[in-house]
Amino acid sequence: MNGVEEEVRNTFRSGRTRGVAWRKAQLQGILNLLAEKEDEIFEALKQDLGKHPVESYRDEVGVAKKSAANALCCVEKWMAPQKGRIPLVFFPARGAVVSEPLGVALIFASWNFPISLALDPVIGAISAGNAVVLKPSDLAPKCSSFLANTIPLYLDPEAIKVVEGGKDVAEELLQLKWDKIFFTGSPQVGRVIMSAAAKHLTPVTLELGGKCPAIFDNLSNSSDLQCNVGFKVAAKRIVGAKWGPCNGQACIGIDYVLVETQFASVLIELLKKFIKRFYGENLKTLENLSRIVNKHHFDRVYNLLKDPKVAASVIYGGSVDEENMLIEPTILLNPPLDADIMTEEIFGPLLPIITMNNIEESIQFINSREKPLAIYAFTKNDSLKEKILQETSSGSLTFNDAMVQFICDTLPFGGVGQSGLGRYHGKFSFDTFSHEKAVLHRSFLIELEPRYPPWNNFKMEF
Ligand code: NAD
Repeated sequence: MNGVEEEVRNTFRSGRTRGVAWRKAQLQGILNLLAEKEDEIFEALKQDLGKHPVESYRDEVGVAKKSAANALCCVEKWMAPQKGRIPLVFFPARGAVVSEPLGVALIFASWNFPISLALDPVIGAISAGNAVVLKPSDLAPKCSSFLANTIPLYLDPEAIKVVEGGKDVAEELLQLKWDKIFFTGSPQVGRVIMSAAAKHLTPVTLELGGKCPAIFDNLSNSSDLQCNVGFKVAAKRIVGAKWGPCNGQACIGIDYVLVETQFASVLIELLKKFIKRFYGENLKTLENLSRIVNKHHFDRVYNLLKDPKVAASVIYGGSVDEENMLIEPTILLNPPLDADIMTEEIFGPLLPIITMNNIEESIQFINSREKPLAIYAFTKNDSLKEKILQETSSGSLTFNDAMVQFICDTLPFGGVGQSGLGRYHGKFSFDTFSHEKAVLHRSFLIELEPRYPPWNNFKMEF
């Protein structure tokens, strides 16, 4: 492992990664890789997670293409020194903020979006002029070996390396000194990363997870709730966001929904309608749904469901196909709040609905738990929107949609508290992998003598 770090560090020290031409060539290399190897990527994602090619394009290839194209177009602008305002007391002088690369970045990717969540931070790191070691997740082995075999063909192999492996390899990598560690994964492993980084005072970005709630408010003035456009669009977006991207195995996926008791039945009926429309009803033919990544995670999610107190709250779905590691889209109504399904991140296709007497209670419900990576609120009520904005804390807050904030590169993406530390996407990625160096240019012209001793005879005069 030492050799890998040493080689990329030597490349970084050579200065070659700093120039705009190198950065642009790597970003173009990523775009070429995505265009020329699209079918191989689809195949790897099919094998690792059962992803449909359209889902793979939307959530993986398309996302990475968008990020690389945006960085390629903007990198020169991002690199330009920013003028810094200098107080008059320094006159004559000028100041600047210059973004310099941090050095060698170690990037850990997760398995649920094994292509986009590996390439997205790499795009940020190379835009900022860093050398990179990428460790994909071993839980998506086909995608991991695809990245290890293909990246050296398209990107500078002496500056960007892929190291495959699991926990042991991660631990070995963490022994070494890096200039930046970017980690996507669970809060538990996030703590391991942060303490390893502390040894070398290495800055970290931790993209973690948690339980992301969706608040479902009254969206209708009429009594015919099911036909109300607001309700229909909200329910459709909840279904698309919960089961669409990797079948619930998404860090910003909806973990549970909070709704007033009087609107629970309309929500549930609409959710069922859209589940059936999007995915069908036969578990064996749910070809538009990804599968659970492996036996360990299948058992973990299945155990959340098997708890007898929880099983009694299933109102839709609930069937499983152990052999093919499939779990049907499942809705639960008011499972016990002390059950694991309501205390642990679900990260799978189960959706608890929790009813409240008044929708404003949802704020207290959310605040009594760890800060989530995302909060979603489907509401037309401006004062409720303002209350949620002011009184809750989360990585992001999206009104009237879910998950789509991830692809909005003009907004930062990241968690707060238990859900993460730092942010990325677009220019925020460039900043995350840069040090903003303060540069002050002074002239030899004016001297303020009182700054120098001896001060014995000096009298302060204002
Ligand atoms: P994980 O934390 O188990 O593993 C992530 C990485 O850490 C892998 O590369 C793994 O090899 C490595 N690792 C595992 N144990 C380690 C140890 N003891 N020491 C050092 N490295 C170790 O996470 P996961 O199961 O891959 O992903 C699921 C979690 O990731 C969920 O909590 C989810 O919310 C979160 N996630 C967050 C984002 C985000 O952008 N914020 C995106 C995807 C997933």
